[in-house]
Formats: sequence, C-alpha cells, structure tokens
Amino acid sequence: MGTTGAVVAALATDVGRVRAHNEDAALVTADLVAVADGMGGHAAGEVASGLAIEALRSVGESEGSDELRPKDVLDAVQAANREILRSAARNPQQTGMATTLAVLARVSVGGAPHWAVANIGDSRVYRVLDGRMSQVSTDHSEVAELVSLGLLTPQEALVHPARNIVTRCLGRDPLEPVDSWVFPPHAGERFLLCTDGLTNELRDGAIARILLDGDDPQAIADALVRAAVDAGGRDNVTVVVVVGSPDGAGSPEADEETAPRNGSSEGSG
Ligand code: CA
Repeated sequence: MGTTGAVVAALATDVGRVRAHNEDAALVTADLVAVADGMGGHAAGEVASGLAIEALRSVGESEGSDELRPKDVLDAVQAANREILRSAARNPQQTGMATTLAVLARVSVGGAPHWAVANIGDSRVYRVLDGRMSQVSTDHSEVAELVSLGLLTPQEALVHPARNIVTRCLGRDPLEPVDSWVFPPHAGERFLLCTDGLTNELRDGAIARILLDGDDPQAIADALVRAAVDAGGRDNVTVVVVVGSPDGAGSPEADEETAPRNGSSEGSG
C-alpha cells in the first residue's frame, strides 16, 4: 500500500519493556500489509514470524499486483506455513516454532477493488468506518473460545491467565484453518493490524481514540505503539495502520451495492 494510489499505510514496532527480543514482524507493500507474532524458544519465534512475512512480501511486491486475487493471499499463507515447516525440519533448535499472521490486501474481484483479510492466531485486524471501530478478524485463542461459549466475559478474558494461548497458528502440519473475508472498500475507512502486545495493554476504546486522531498513518502507528509501551510494554508491540482515501480505498468509486449473490436456494428444494 505504501503511498500508492489513495491508500497510505505505515508500521511501527517496539520490543517493549520486558522482552529481550522482538519476535513480531510486519510488512507494508503496495497492495498488502501484514503483522506476525512469532513463538518458539532460542529466538525461533522471530524466525517463524520473519519467514511468514517474507512469504507474503513476494506476493505483495509481485509485478502486476493490481490483479492480486483473494486466492493469491491464501496461497501466500500456505507458502508461509511450508517455509516455516521446512526451516524447522532443517534446524532442530527451531522445532515447534510458530507464528500468528494477519493480512490485509487490496484485491480484484470481478474487476472491482475489494479488501481481502486473512487471519490465523490472535493478532487482529480492526476496521474503522464512520468513526466506529470493529474487529474484522476472529481471535484463535483459548479465551476467545471461552467468550464465544459464554463461559467468560470479554472483560474477564483481558486478564485471564490463558489469554496468551493461541489455538491456531502457522508452523503446523497440516496447515490449521485460516479465516478469510472479502469485502468492498468504503470511503474514509481505516484499518489497524496489530499483535497482542497492543491489545493486552490497551482497551478497544483507547485504541480507537488514537486510530481516529489525525490523518497521518505513521503518526498514528507511532502513537499506538508508544501508548502500549507506556501502559506496561509487557510484550512486543507491532501495528500497521492503513488510512483510505475520502472517496474510497483507492478505487474510482466505492461499490456500495456489492452484496452476496442471493436467491440460489429459493424454490430449488
Ligand atoms: Ca505477542
């Protein structure tokens, strides 16, 4: 995304106040942004997150990326998983290394620009539209499962001892299920991709206030990371901020009428 077209994106990352290494990784390219949060001993976590990001970089920076399709994004996620497994097989100290991955890409569907989101793990994709922030992605975490079962409130999840346990990640054979979404761009929307080092330190309300403050994605990204470090910085903190144009995310006109095809089951018994 960079500064191409009418969409601008920026990333910021910090090791935080406690950890010795930054095992997060992030990417901003012309048509694709991503964050990854690595896990594994002996610095293998940063190998896993780095390999995932490099697999996506080759897609994001490929020629003719105007024609990126949702499938290209999912193919890249599969390639990332293979790269991590391949490296771990060659390097015993990397055994079991893993990473989350959250991706936002500008793709073409039926000749029209769309956003594609893919996620595995507990890094998040948030979207702001009309001043309201909502989480696009679903966390693959133990606490998210307990919340969805009604066994935990979202407030209890924030301080639950299992809040750092992910239930899906890259680095597993076979590849665990990856969630994905495709939707049309809207005027004035913003996105935030972040690792849990942000969301474990800041509530959604605080994140939204910073995300809506000004139009410079680098200033917003820096402010988000600074706030999380100031709030404790108990983990690595990584964010990517995407600010769309007032007239739609780099598209000639936002397609407000795009909707799922319907009626296919009517009368067909
Ligand atoms: Ca983390």
